[in-house]
Amino acid sequence: MPVGLVYLVGAGPGDPGLVTRHAEAAIRAADTVVYDHLVHRKILEWIPANARSIYVGKRRGHQEMPQQEINRLLCDEALQGRAVVRLKGGDPYVFGRGAEEAEALAEAGVPFRVIPGVTAGIGALAYAGLAVTHRDHASAVTFVTGHDDPDSPDCRVDWPWFARFSGTVVVYMGMTRRTRIAQVLIENGKSPSTPVALVERGSWPDQKVETGTLKELADSSRAWRVKAPALIMIGEVVRLRPQLDWFSRLPLAGRCILLTRPEDDARRSESVLENLGAEVLIAPTIRVGPIADRSGLDDALGHLASYDWIVWTSANGVRFFFDRLFELGLDLRAVGHAKIAAIGPATSEALKRYGLNADVVPATFRSEDLADALLPHVSGKSVLLARADRGRTVLLDRLEPVASDVRQVAVYTNEDMPEWPVEIEKVLEEDRVDWVTLTSSAISRRFASLYAKLRPAEKSGRLKFASISPITSQAAREAGLEPTVEANQFTMEGLLDAILAYERRRSESG
Ligand code: SAH
Repeated sequence: MPVGLVYLVGAGPGDPGLVTRHAEAAIRAADTVVYDHLVHRKILEWIPANARSIYVGKRRGHQEMPQQEINRLLCDEALQGRAVVRLKGGDPYVFGRGAEEAEALAEAGVPFRVIPGVTAGIGALAYAGLAVTHRDHASAVTFVTGHDDPDSPDCRVDWPWFARFSGTVVVYMGMTRRTRIAQVLIENGKSPSTPVALVERGSWPDQKVETGTLKELADSSRAWRVKAPALIMIGEVVRLRPQLDWFSRLPLAGRCILLTRPEDDARRSESVLENLGAEVLIAPTIRVGPIADRSGLDDALGHLASYDWIVWTSANGVRFFFDRLFELGLDLRAVGHAKIAAIGPATSEALKRYGLNADVVPATFRSEDLADALLPHVSGKSVLLARADRGRTVLLDRLEPVASDVRQVAVYTNEDMPEWPVEIEKVLEEDRVDWVTLTSSAISRRFASLYAKLRPAEKSGRLKFASISPITSQAAREAGLEPTVEANQFTMEGLLDAILAYERRRSESG
């Protein structure tokens, strides 16, 4: 039996962008992934579909798996020849019992590798606007666990020494004992006015930071908003936070945005929104796919040279059209000398990726305007409309009386999602969403009907709708959803601009 390998992998403090390339590669190639802390959904998505993913942490009503058993599990999995990833928050060797796991592996003769991670005491603090050293304010930093009772003879930390230490002190796992730790530091000579910061969920979209003084931390009657698990930072550098804070000032910090477009389309906006500080949830209300009965499409693709105009009404239409064209063994020459039209910028961008420049693109992204733009050109011509298997028939109706021949061909299917995953239902019911994007009439209608089935908590006004165009807004209103903002440019970028403008106005008005 070949012996496998265990990777002790640091997953960083939260933001998946802080995971190293080695870590990502190991996760993507894993046979087994063992984790216990809260891991970002995106990191879990890297786990191969056929890999075992084993959660050994605390769950409601259940204890976490004892360390001995975790050690045995890692050895057993590896001894069966598997590539095992042991995912740990932050860095595996910083207070994560990673070293104990490595010892157990060494003892069992199981080969292992360590992939360091960004520890919370560096990464979470940086996102909280806290630098751990500074030439003028802190020339040293220590990481210490606050887990033990400082008054117990078994306490492994020499707190009186920390009272004399002039650098930055970063306390992990210290929230439960924070009052007594602060008192012991003061009793041993640390200035009560030393600034402190508490950081919960650092680098996550719902990060919380609170500052105060060591004296306030020592006061057991003082209530803090920050809850465990959290970091406590003690030191003069905390005073620089007003200048160094950046994450909480991002334009969409603390905002949760639900993208309702088909998955691939939604993914394209995800990182843009995350870079603006938003938490992004993808909950498609419709999905697109290849058409089942391809006879009409294949026939049209086989005779493209006979059309004077080819018209696309969505980027998905472009993609599925060429997917099938290439599948049939044809290439771009099949498009021949036909003129081409796109309904809007996203569709013409999609055509550009195939090296095609649209001859007609209305600025407005409406079928009516596309028809107006085409009418002067199509008199006596033959026109192919490449579209979804459902939708409005404005183009056909308007062009048919003028053109010699208009053929409408379904290139892809566009259907309602039967339901949402439970996590999505939960965040909507708990009123944790700020914005829902509505990017077509069909999406608006489907969102309304899926949302109507939920039992949301009392409406707080937090949930708002952002519509891509007047047509979409109208469909939304008919379905009972009132858009708070509407895009000026009828594209996804235009829609994001509308959300940003709203949030900017709101933060300026306090
Ligand atoms: N190996 C981890 C630490 C594990 S101990 C690392 O290197 O970061 C768990 C403690 O880490 C928590 O009690 C808390 O004090 C701290 N912690 C981990 N992630 C954090 C985060 N995102 N924000 C604030 N504190 C965090």
